[in-house]
Amino acid sequence: MKHTVTNTKTAIPINDRVNDQHTPRAARTGKVWLVGAGPGDADLLTVKALRAINSADIIFYDQLVSEEICALFPKNTPALYVGKVKNNHSIPQADLNQLLVNQAQLGLNVCRIKGGDPFVFGRGGEELLELRKAGVEADVIPGITSASGCSTYADIPLTHRGIAQGCTFVTGHAEKTLDVNWNALAQLNHTLVFYMGLTRAGDISTNLLAGGLAADTPVAIIENGCRKDQRDIISDLANFPAVVLREQVKSPALIIVGHVVSLKEQLQVEAWLSESQCMTA
Ligand code: SAH
Repeated sequence: MKHTVTNTKTAIPINDRVNDQHTPRAARTGKVWLVGAGPGDADLLTVKALRAINSADIIFYDQLVSEEICALFPKNTPALYVGKVKNNHSIPQADLNQLLVNQAQLGLNVCRIKGGDPFVFGRGGEELLELRKAGVEADVIPGITSASGCSTYADIPLTHRGIAQGCTFVTGHAEKTLDVNWNALAQLNHTLVFYMGLTRAGDISTNLLAGGLAADTPVAIIENGCRKDQRDIISDLANFPAVVLREQVKSPALIIVGHVVSLKEQLQVEAWLSESQCMTA
């Protein structure tokens, strides 16, 4: 079931149908690839993801797949939007799972592409489980998760020797109540990255402060990361909820909490200094 990358000839079984063109389509079972698209910049797609896109019979994409990446979909491949805007699933998850199963059973190779990495707050595990339960061949192609892409594009290393020895990805969204051990998070003394945290900015701030994290702990809010209109806003733990409101931050946005955020300024000063040295040389 698991695909192992040994060499370029055997790495991608997506094109199996090319060697199987004499079998009528319905007599074969298709395969579903759950593909990570990364956070936006099409150059961050993996080669394997691009191959999956190019050899699919049908593509299902969601809200966080950037326009730049959608523009790479082959013109003749049907591409269906199955995304959601907050609290408004265009297709309920159970129906979507069934749709993927049906398409594969019709003999189609399906590319189900999602923003970031399917296994990081992407419901990739749920979809994979349902597909395998239904006996459909399915595998995941990892993508660059937004924490990694956005922090890098913002000049914020998620870990840094002497500053942060670890990093935790936390969701700010839960179907019912958010089950997070705030006291433990506040004590960790490392980087925290909140996904889907915009509407919970107040809770995040209050709970981390109550857990003992200092009010002046630096915070970065990264809106539309790895896209042309990326916006980086720097604040601190006590003030960032007000800043989110004042700046009218829009989704998708990530919240990074921790002293690594201060490295941004330092890295940018160094870049500026080396650029001005080049200009005067
Ligand atoms: N599977 C995705 C995360 C899906 S949860 C991944 O690995 O990145 C959706 C949340 O991800 C958004 O609410 C936002 O917090 C974050 N996110 C995704 N893409 C983003 C982007 N380009 N810029 C900023 N945040 C992003």
